[in-house]
Amino acid sequence: MTAKMVTEGHELPVLAIDLGGTKIISAMVAADNRVLAKDYRLTLADEGRTAVINRIFAGIDTLLGQTGSLPAQLGGISVAAAGAIDSARGLITVSPNLPGWRDVPLRDILRGKYGIDTFLINDANAAALGEHGCGAGVGVNNLIYVTVSTGIGGGIIIDGKLYSGACGSAGEIGHMTIDVNGPRCSCGNIGCLEVLASGTAVAKEAIERVSRGESSSITDIVEGKVANITAKEVGMAAQQGDALALDIISKAATYLGVGLVNLVNIFNPEMIVVGGGMSKMGDFLLEPARQLVAGRAMPLSAGAVRIVKAELGEDSGVLGAAIFARQQKLV
Ligand SMILES: [Zn+2]
Repeated sequence: MTAKMVTEGHELPVLAIDLGGTKIISAMVAADNRVLAKDYRLTLADEGRTAVINRIFAGIDTLLGQTGSLPAQLGGISVAAAGAIDSARGLITVSPNLPGWRDVPLRDILRGKYGIDTFLINDANAAALGEHGCGAGVGVNNLIYVTVSTGIGGGIIIDGKLYSGACGSAGEIGHMTIDVNGPRCSCGNIGCLEVLASGTAVAKEAIERVSRGESSSITDIVEGKVANITAKEVGMAAQQGDALALDIISKAATYLGVGLVNLVNIFNPEMIVVGGGMSKMGDFLLEPARQLVAGRAMPLSAGAVRIVKAELGEDSGVLGAAIFARQQKLV
């Protein structure tokens, strides 16, 4: 152990925050990745940046109070947030969850208030670190994490380390082109994996097909309020054996599988961990994707990869943010 490792306190708890579009989860995370205390509050992003940042402060202050800690007793504060995060400069450059935020120096805002080391990382990259450090991928050296939720994101672990790319924006798995003639994606490109296989894509297709008169138990689940259909209801209907729901999910799973074939051929990972809300569909989503990988990826790589469900659930972001902080302190 070097002197630097001893003096910089990486054994202290990290106050980790997952800044999502709906809620802010804050957690005091011990050095062994146990969650010691947790705080939830709504993001309410439409109230504006200052209000959201004040809620982040409130979450931090609540946990400091609950655990009787002073900022100086922490190993740092670490935030996982959706969007294009410039980790090196500590900026949220743009975020789909935080309308109007542009180049917000959240890392330095927190450092200015609490006077300790602070860190900022993309939420899917954080989740990759979390699943690798204490979830489905413990002991796996080459791992790709894919989150399939309202959007699709990811993180790439190579030789045990997060691959960040030139400016920290690597791992945007959701924006790999799957269909050159496909629909327009929110990123401006066309035919991205996200626009074909995300929860939003599944809900949109279900709404369109039910509205066109296709019969499905999805309609009963939402009590006829077709506009309220989300991927969750499509998943529920699939579990009841509903033909339309099964067809929609199998189509999304096929697109996801094509994306995974590309990843398997490029990275030859030992494991692909699938998280996010859509992963709750389990084998409805994963099995067609596994079959596609087995049938289409290069045989050597296809034979080496396990495609599994994430294990950490909502804690993946805060656990990964805490791991990121410790890794940064050791650099
Ligand atoms: Zn895109």
